[in-house]
Amino acid sequence: MPLLNIKGLRKSYGALEVVAGIDIAVNAGECFGLLGPNGAGKTTTLRLALGLTAPDSGTISLFDLPVPGKAREARIRVGVVPQMDNLDPDFTVRENLMAYGRYFGLKDAETARRIPALLEFAGLEHRADARIDALSGGMKRRLTLARALVNDPDLIFLDEPTTGLDPQARHMIWQRLRELINQGKTLVLTTHFMEEAERLCDRLCIMDRGKIIATGSPRALIEQHIEPEVLEVVGEEVDAWAEQYGRGLCQRLEKTGEMLFCYTRDSRALLEHLKSQSSLRYLHRPASLEDVFLKLTGKELRD
Ligand code: ADP
Repeated sequence: MPLLNIKGLRKSYGALEVVAGIDIAVNAGECFGLLGPNGAGKTTTLRLALGLTAPDSGTISLFDLPVPGKAREARIRVGVVPQMDNLDPDFTVRENLMAYGRYFGLKDAETARRIPALLEFAGLEHRADARIDALSGGMKRRLTLARALVNDPDLIFLDEPTTGLDPQARHMIWQRLRELINQGKTLVLTTHFMEEAERLCDRLCIMDRGKIIATGSPRALIEQHIEPEVLEVVGEEVDAWAEQYGRGLCQRLEKTGEMLFCYTRDSRALLEHLKSQSSLRYLHRPASLEDVFLKLTGKELRD
């Protein structure tokens, strides 16, 4: 039985259908990703799943309990890392954790017992008495993550867990999330970082304009939608080269800005040819989730 089971879910704001009939089933122990461009409906889907927003139609069950009807009961077993850190700036690190424990009805003594392990997990052992505004962005994110674990949840929702972080801080969060996955926790995360989804998620769905346009493991999605090898080619004469040679030497060509993407099942002839083209520079790489994403959602920018 899936821990989270969503069927035929719809939600409109005014004339805009933000969630347009989606099905999602998240199994115990998996890391499931909701990947999509800005405005795709990811955050709204999370809010619906938590019972924070009422659906127009469809059914949601969380730990076998109907949402929103029994959402409060279900949320006892859930941790949430919201998109914006909403730590209390007037409190210290420890006080923030204590306050959150009370929110879940934990006795202070019980929360206090849990705090050392949470601080260690967050790498904040020496910052227990620091005020929130003295923490870096990465530290705040780690504290928000630790706070979501105060009730020892089985399922953790994370809304864009690494948006706004620098690469070091991002890697640190990824490492912590992998620890949680290894402990057997179930994770549902939204992201628009392909690399994040590819590294962490067992399965994911790609959402666009309120609909799910693909679901599967990162590897399966790549195999299903994209040729296995990619050559990214740039240079002044790339357009002429594409017409004269490129088209015949690969399965599919895409141009984004200055960059020509050549998708191929066998790159040997293409590589051989490119070596003789002194005016072109190229990068040879395996196909990634980003290629799938761009193919399915289009290459235009979304604000
Ligand atoms: P994502 O998380 O994928 O970026 P969201 O779920 O946040 O997408 O938003 C999807 C769309 O729904 C956006 O166009 C957003 O402006 C709109 N939207 C979200 N919440 C509300 C709301 N409470 N009222 C009106 N429009 C909303």
